[in-house]
Amino acid sequence: MTKSNTTLTELAKAISNESVKIVDLTNTLSPDFPVIILPPEFGQCEQFKMETLSRYDENGPAWYWNNISMNEHTGTHFDAPAHWVTGKNIPNNTVETIPVKDFVAPAVVINISEEAKINPDFLLTKEYLMEWEKIHGKIPPKNWIALRTDWYKLVGTEKYLNMHEDGAHSPGPDKSAIEFLVFERDCLGLAVETIGTDAGQAFDFDPPLPAHSILHGNGRYGLQCLKNLDKLPTFGSIIIANPLKIEQGSGSPLRVLALVNG
Ligand code: MN
Repeated sequence: MTKSNTTLTELAKAISNESVKIVDLTNTLSPDFPVIILPPEFGQCEQFKMETLSRYDENGPAWYWNNISMNEHTGTHFDAPAHWVTGKNIPNNTVETIPVKDFVAPAVVINISEEAKINPDFLLTKEYLMEWEKIHGKIPPKNWIALRTDWYKLVGTEKYLNMHEDGAHSPGPDKSAIEFLVFERDCLGLAVETIGTDAGQAFDFDPPLPAHSILHGNGRYGLQCLKNLDKLPTFGSIIIANPLKIEQGSGSPLRVLALVNG
């Protein structure tokens, strides 16, 4: 005999009657989905590539399949601690070794979409977060910090990467915000709609790329190129983000879903 009235039974019921809804936070992988562009002296991230082997034709009369290739950081993707030099000695720092419980976790949504619309270089600061908490309440531990910018609505336009002669211009956190989220709020990671967890201009910050440096140096994760963060409530959603189990993988493209109350 198994108990029928368990939490999981309730959840299954809620999913089935859509009192809990599933939101897709993932952009479609395609050869034209943009990737991060680094300064030219560095190795570059490869875009998604797909080669059809057969499609019910002479190379495979009854089957359709493709060979695909990409960087670990192409499209909607997960950053493991080993992605950054600061995280190179953290235990379980590659995707196949991260505890699987971290792949299902609650999220807090911080909405900076209005600020980012006015200023594409808008920086989230500790001061901003402390003001935010006065209005919305304290950020609970072990949450994804989902930074809503509505940037996903720019996918397919040049404004998504927003590259200029002096580099990319997109919003992100500064050092004070990341230190606050990691050390004072014990976040699981930072989840963003932009191409990276750092702001477009963060190469020139001190330290450079503070989100990558501080998150990964402290065993926290990144999620990038998400969409639909505007469909999530401020508190109460659950993000399911399980990267491919790549041996020694620094990250992985993935399908990210959120559970929300319907
Ligand atoms: Mn990445």
